[in-house]
Amino acid sequence: ACLENDISGTDNKGFKGHDMLAPFTAGWQSTDVDPLIIEKSEGSHVYDMQGRRYLDTLAGLWCTALGGNEPRLVDAATKQLNTLPFYHSFWNRTTKPSLDLAKELLDMFTAKKMAKAFFTNSGSEANDTQVKLVWYYNNALGRPNKKKFIARAKAYHGSTLISASLTGLPALHQNFDLPAPFVLHTDCPHYWRYHLPGETEEEFSTRLAKNLEDLILKEGPETIAAFIAEPVMGAGGVIPPPATYFDKIQAVVKKYDILFIADEVICAFGRLGTMFGSDKYNIKPDLVSLAKALSSAYMPIGAVLVSPEVSDVIHSQSNKLGSFSHGFTYSGHPVACAVALEAIKIYKEQNMVERVNRISPKFQEGLKAFSDSPIIGEIRGIGLILATEFVNNKSPNDPFPPEWGVGAYFGAQCQKNGMLVRVAGDTIMMSPPFVVTPEELDELISIYGKALRETE
Ligand code: PLP
Repeated sequence: ACLENDISGTDNKGFKGHDMLAPFTAGWQSTDVDPLIIEKSEGSHVYDMQGRRYLDTLAGLWCTALGGNEPRLVDAATKQLNTLPFYHSFWNRTTKPSLDLAKELLDMFTAKKMAKAFFTNSGSEANDTQVKLVWYYNNALGRPNKKKFIARAKAYHGSTLISASLTGLPALHQNFDLPAPFVLHTDCPHYWRYHLPGETEEEFSTRLAKNLEDLILKEGPETIAAFIAEPVMGAGGVIPPPATYFDKIQAVVKKYDILFIADEVICAFGRLGTMFGSDKYNIKPDLVSLAKALSSAYMPIGAVLVSPEVSDVIHSQSNKLGSFSHGFTYSGHPVACAVALEAIKIYKEQNMVERVNRISPKFQEGLKAFSDSPIIGEIRGIGLILATEFVNNKSPNDPFPPEWGVGAYFGAQCQKNGMLVRVAGDTIMMSPPFVVTPEELDELISIYGKALRETE
């Protein structure tokens, strides 16, 4: 029955969506349109108010890694709520779950030794925290001019003022007077779209590293504080890095004493087939941002991991500068930390990285088999994250007219057939839960194929 969901004539029992100013509303997702109201989740599926069942290929919003009804996470939250629903983690007061989670994260992140964890409620707050940490660090070192950040076109780092500035998507800047002047953007590393004729992936990476170096030299290295990157770009269109990209980029930032921030908000905890994206691409970051799968999204929580080099400066200089006066009432919320600790326990006990490696070839190869479709330009991905880009004539330079709404039509066909995908223009993105089963992947591939035939 779920294959023939009728999405017309939705009876939302009086909820018209007009009362809520929903994030990122525009066009067909506008609040003028009846919202899809999700009421229940189970494994990799969600159910709407009419009881219709959908395969949730985006894991909520790239985050419910353990699926929609993991009882151990519910128990961890309930136990903590019954013991200590809240106490803060400011100054020298804290709670055991937040201390335990900090230790766990520092032990787990092995790409480079990390010394401290700072807790936030979201990925955006984690990236805002990064900027303030880096500014404090350079003030402490007596380098008040080393304050600029370099991010990348098409990056997604969040939607607060600072994280939206780091984001490289025009939609998050226009109408908000962003990006802030201290943020610069360098190339998006999308080989298929941006490589020159005859250029290999390695040559493309060399050119991008050279462009980054040119930007640094133009601005003055003494003014550039940090470079931020997602190991695999997520919301900007699922863009894995081209060969040798991070080796070359890291060499440039190191040369000019620029900190490297790995935004692992989507990539961490197994999605790429390694515990962290940094492990996958041999990234040695100075700072790391985490959120989403950290708690499998059952509670809002984010974290920043800080290397000893940065945290030592902050600690040793705080007598001179005054405290690092930054934090949120809910930093280290004990219920969120208890849930995150349990999620991590499950990732480890169930060998989630190995599971992703076992199951992801079916996902990647099953969908990439559709690459010959005349309306598909590229299907790209790694592990349990993938995007399909629709173009005319298989060319990155020949997009379909936006008014045709090819991506939106495909998304609607998926939804009609019982599957939810992320639609961004003519790019369709998926990042199923880590616990997606082979049978659910069969269902995913079958609905994708049906929606594609209906779109072609
Ligand atoms: N960084 C990355 C890589 C993300 O994908 C996101 C959200 O999608 C964020 C940061 C922002 O996280 P949040 O929405 O929790 O603020």
